[in-house]
Amino acid sequence: MKACLLHAPAPVASHPLVLSEIPTPEPQGDQVLVRVHACGVCRTDLHVVEGELPPRKSPVIPGHQVVGTIERMGDRARGFHAGDRVGIPWLHQTCGVCEFCRAGKENLCERATFTGYMVDGGYAEYAVAPEAFVYPIPESFRDVDAAPLLCAGIIGFRSLRLSAIQPGGRLGFYGFGAAAHVAIQVARHWGVEVYAFTRDAAHQQLARDLGAAWAGYSNDQPPNLLDSAIIFAPAGELVPAALRVLKKGGTVVLAGIHMSAIPAMDYSLLYHERVVRSVANNTRQDGEDFLSVAAEIPIRTQVEIFPLAEANRALNALKNDEVRGGAAVIGVAVS
Ligand SMILES: [Zn+2]
Ligand SMILES: [Zn+2]
Repeated sequence: MKACLLHAPAPVASHPLVLSEIPTPEPQGDQVLVRVHACGVCRTDLHVVEGELPPRKSPVIPGHQVVGTIERMGDRARGFHAGDRVGIPWLHQTCGVCEFCRAGKENLCERATFTGYMVDGGYAEYAVAPEAFVYPIPESFRDVDAAPLLCAGIIGFRSLRLSAIQPGGRLGFYGFGAAAHVAIQVARHWGVEVYAFTRDAAHQQLARDLGAAWAGYSNDQPPNLLDSAIIFAPAGELVPAALRVLKKGGTVVLAGIHMSAIPAMDYSLLYHERVVRSVANNTRQDGEDFLSVAAEIPIRTQVEIFPLAEANRALNALKNDEVRGGAAVIGVAVS
């Protein structure tokens, strides 16, 4: 099969992914082999490729928002049939027995493995995953439109939940890319007023088009104080910026896996029971709940499609805020 291999982390400007011909993986035991149709490009892929996340497998195939159809199954896989359309997400597998798994917090599993980082992902023609960790994809979504739901969508959804935002509340988004352009649709569905803070004028416009009550730059003062905020951009200086526009008791959620250092700040920004918390991965329940609400709304993703051979260009577009629409997607065998 064709696959984009990362041999060693390097700046995406140097085009480190190498399109290669390698053996198609065989599904073992409880695994399914998925013929990849589309794979979303996530900011975490940038962190893997550029080495902000320490290498865990080399070479590795990035990509953890994989949509495709089941080609074959291992001898212990029973839940699907060949031809079923599924999504392979970031959470590749959990142990099921550690204290976090037993407490319903498998997102914090001590022995979790992650797709496109610790095991091969979806910048390829085929990928394997345990059947218990893939999601059926609602029929109403095209392959390319479903791909960004699998991480940007699910993590955005978990961030919304952890933000404790209530119907009628005011919610800030810092950064307005793949995750925010999906999360705003859920927030609007819940009757939440959204304030978008982003340095990019096109993304400010996208936010307004999707129903934001207000859009501006990250240090702008919005017309109202906010109940909660979600920081999607990997910039630590946004933490004090978000606290500054938050009501007493409000929550700032940090949605990324990596963030630059958070600057020292006055305790007064945090006082009055304001909360800063991170989001780490997601549970399968988050994913199932999100995909169901996504089909019900229905969520409309705006994607720019790149061929597999141009995965490096897709990563550069993401890094440089040049993705047209909300999310970049690798179209591998788009139907
Ligand atoms: Zn575990
Ligand atoms: Zn991701």
